[in-house]
Amino acid sequence: MDKKYDAIIIGAGVIGAAISFELSKKGYKTVNIDRNPTSGYGSTAASCAIIRVHYSTFDGCALAYEGYHYWKDWEKYLEFNDESGLAKFIECGCMIYKTEANQNLKKVIQRADELNIPYEEWGPNEIKDNLPIVDTHKFGPVKTTSDVDFGKHKNKQLVGSVFFPTAGYINDPQLSAHNLQRASEQYGGEFLFNSSVENILKENGRVSGIQLKDGTKIFANIVVNVAGPHSMKVNQMAGVEYDMNIKTKALKVEVSHVKPPENFNYEKDAFVVSDSDIGCYSRPETGNHILIGSEDPECDERIFVDPDKWDENFTDQWNTQLYRQAQRYPNLPLSSKVKGVVSLYDVSDDWIPIYDKSSLPGFYMAVGSSGNQYKNAPIAGVMMAKLIEQCEKGHDHDKDPVKLHLKYINREIDIGFYSRNRVINSESSMSVLG
Ligand SMILES: Cc1cc2nc3c(=O)[nH]c(=O)nc-3n(C[C@H](O)[C@H](O)[C@H](O)COP(=O)(O)OP(=O)(O)OC[C@H]3O[C@@H](n4cnc5c(N)ncnc54)[C@H](O)[C@@H]3O)c2cc1C
Repeated sequence: MDKKYDAIIIGAGVIGAAISFELSKKGYKTVNIDRNPTSGYGSTAASCAIIRVHYSTFDGCALAYEGYHYWKDWEKYLEFNDESGLAKFIECGCMIYKTEANQNLKKVIQRADELNIPYEEWGPNEIKDNLPIVDTHKFGPVKTTSDVDFGKHKNKQLVGSVFFPTAGYINDPQLSAHNLQRASEQYGGEFLFNSSVENILKENGRVSGIQLKDGTKIFANIVVNVAGPHSMKVNQMAGVEYDMNIKTKALKVEVSHVKPPENFNYEKDAFVVSDSDIGCYSRPETGNHILIGSEDPECDERIFVDPDKWDENFTDQWNTQLYRQAQRYPNLPLSSKVKGVVSLYDVSDDWIPIYDKSSLPGFYMAVGSSGNQYKNAPIAGVMMAKLIEQCEKGHDHDKDPVKLHLKYINREIDIGFYSRNRVINSESSMSVLG
C-alpha cells in the first residue's frame, strides 16, 4: 500500500530520531525508516557518547556548548518519560592535555573565553592530584608500536592540561535514540524498522518519496538523509553527490574496552580525557572499565570501507590503543581479552558534518558526523527542522544561509558553516576531534 507523509527521514539513529522529534513538534507528519530492528542500532549504539565542549572551530564549540545544555535538561527537553527509562548524562568533566599538536590549546582557551565556557588550567602536579594513576611524561609525537622509540620519553614533562567541568558522557547512547523516538511518537512521528530504502523517487524536478527493497513506495515532498555511514550511498541514490564539494565516506574504527589499573576506581574518580601526546581519547565506562578510542594520529593507516561489505573483526589497532594508553597509565593491565567495539564513522572530507539541503529540491542531509556529532544530536535536530522549514518556504539557503539562534547560550550561528559546498575548513583538526 502506498503511503504519504510530509517528511521521510532515512535513518533512526540519534540524529535521525532528533530530526523526527523536532519536525513532529512543528506539525510535520514524519516517518523514520531504518533497516535495523530498532532505533539507535547503527553507529549510535557503538558511540562512546562523549559530551565535550571543545572543538577546533568557533562554530563547533558554540554548537557543542549549546548541545551540552540539551543533555543536561534531557527529561525536560523530551517532555516525556520513555517506558525503557531515560539515558543519563554522567557529568564527570573532560581534560585535554596541552601538546604541540594542539598548540597548547591556545585556540580552545580563546574560544572558551569567547563563549563563557568554564574551565580550569592544570599543571602536571594538579593533573596527578586529580588523576593519580598518570605518568605526565611527554611521549609524543605519536608512534606505531613497532617504532623502536615507542613508549620512550626524554624525561620531559607535559606542560599541563585544560579541564572542562561541563562535559562527560551518556551512559546508554542507544537508549537516548529510543528516548527521542518515543518523544517524537507523542507528536505523531512514525518509525518503520527492518526496512531498507533502495531508491529515491523524483517527480517534476523534486523529491517525491522513497522505494523500499520489497518494492513498497512511500511518498513525501521532503526526504532527509540521516543514514550515518551509508550517507554517501543514499546521496548517490538521490543523484546529489555530484553537486557536493564536501563528500562523505565510511571509516572503520575500533574502541578498546579494558580494565583500569588495580585499586583505582576509574568509573567514579576519572573523567573523559583527550590525549594527543599518545593519540588516544578515553572515558570511564560502567562496571569500572575504560573505553579507549583513537584520535587518528598521522602514523596510523585510515581504513575506508564499503559500509555494506567490510571486515567487522578487531585488528591490531585494538592493541595499539591499549599500549598507547599504557604509556600514560603505567599500571594499566595489558589484558589479552579483546573487548570493545568495531564500527564505522561517517567521515566528511574535513571531519566537520554537513547539515544542508541538496541540489534536488526537497532532499536534505545531516551527514558526515565524523565520529563527533553524537553530542550535537538534539541541536542538529533543531537546526535541520529550521533549515527544512525555511527552505520549504522558498528561502535560498545556498545564496543566503539560514541563521539559527542558540537559545541556551544566546548566540546566533550561520547554518551555512555546515554547507556541502564549503571549501575544506583549514581550522579543522582533520580528525575525530572535529
Ligand atoms: C565507535 C564510535 C565512537 C563514537 N564516539 C563519539 C563520541 O564519543 N561523541 C560524539 O559526539 N560522537 C561519537 N561518535 C559519533 C556518533 O556516534 C555519530 O555521529 C552518531 O551516532 C550518528 O548518528 P546518526 O543518527 O547520524 O547515524 P547512525 O546512528 O549511524 O544511524 C543511521 C541509521 O541509518 C540506517 N540506514 C542507513 N542506510 C539505510 C537505508 N538505505 N535504508 C534504511 N536505513 C538505513 C542505519 O541502519 C542506521 O541505523 C562515535 C561513533 C562511533 C562509530
